[in-house]
Amino acid sequence: RSTAKRYEPSDKQTTFADVAGLEGVKADLQEIVDFLKAPEKFQRLGGRIPKGVLLNGPPGTGKTLLARAVAGEAGVPFYSVNGSEFIQMFVGVGASRVRDLFQTAKEHAPAIIFVDEIDAVGRQRGAGLGGGHDEREQTLNQILSEMDGFSGVESVIVVAATNRPDVLDPALLRPGRFDRHVTVGRPTFKGRQEIFKVHTRDVPLDNDVDLNRLAAVTIGLTGADIRNLVNESALWAARNNRTRVFMADFDYARDKVLMGAKREEVLGQ
Ligand code: ATP
Repeated sequence: RSTAKRYEPSDKQTTFADVAGLEGVKADLQEIVDFLKAPEKFQRLGGRIPKGVLLNGPPGTGKTLLARAVAGEAGVPFYSVNGSEFIQMFVGVGASRVRDLFQTAKEHAPAIIFVDEIDAVGRQRGAGLGGGHDEREQTLNQILSEMDGFSGVESVIVVAATNRPDVLDPALLRPGRFDRHVTVGRPTFKGRQEIFKVHTRDVPLDNDVDLNRLAAVTIGLTGADIRNLVNESALWAARNNRTRVFMADFDYARDKVLMGAKREEVLGQ
């Protein structure tokens, strides 16, 4: 039994086309795609494929989506776990779960392991004043030793995501571990335009809908917020028995979503 949710290459593929904006980030990650597509090409010249990539950015900016897209672009399986699961669900067995996960990924290499919220297990060790963090430390130590155990021929790349890079144990960031860092920021105006385009692909829009104006009035929103906004607009339009979504529906949903985003900010999200 593996802890990881596994996605095979035959599943519906996420690709870079699903990730709007973030052109620079996608260009950085293309290198990882190339490694995974043809690891031998790089290993033949004695090169060691990178083991770990850290995606750093606020929640909802598309880190999971990007990791999935890297796997999709390369056509390799994607094994995903969440750091907080190790703390909440796998009490007493965190380290062995990590071992199983890496074992499975190696058997199906080239492959990607995605660890969301790595900070939940990867906080600086010894910072908990001894208060029952052994479990977490053992899990973290297991991740480190698995990564150190790669000889570079396994072609498994671990992609981790965090919005708290400042609390990470420096041991995670050492050469040969998560030594490639990619920052995923909130989208720019152009990014928001593109995210609106992607998420309204299958939504019937009235001619009065102006996605440029929407992009202009959603400063600070993430891709996840925009997806939510589009969904709320469609639901509101349907509730009002409309067969297309109008600009007024977007304006209504925007107020609702902005209010939610504010509340999260106040709660320190
Ligand atoms: P978290 O830290 O909460 O896990 P995340 O950065 O991993 O957040 P995702 O889970 O990838 O964010 O984003 C949630 C959803 O928001 C995605 O599945 C996608 O629908 C949408 N989304 C986010 N960013 C983008 C983007 N750049 N382009 C298109 N859709 C996006």
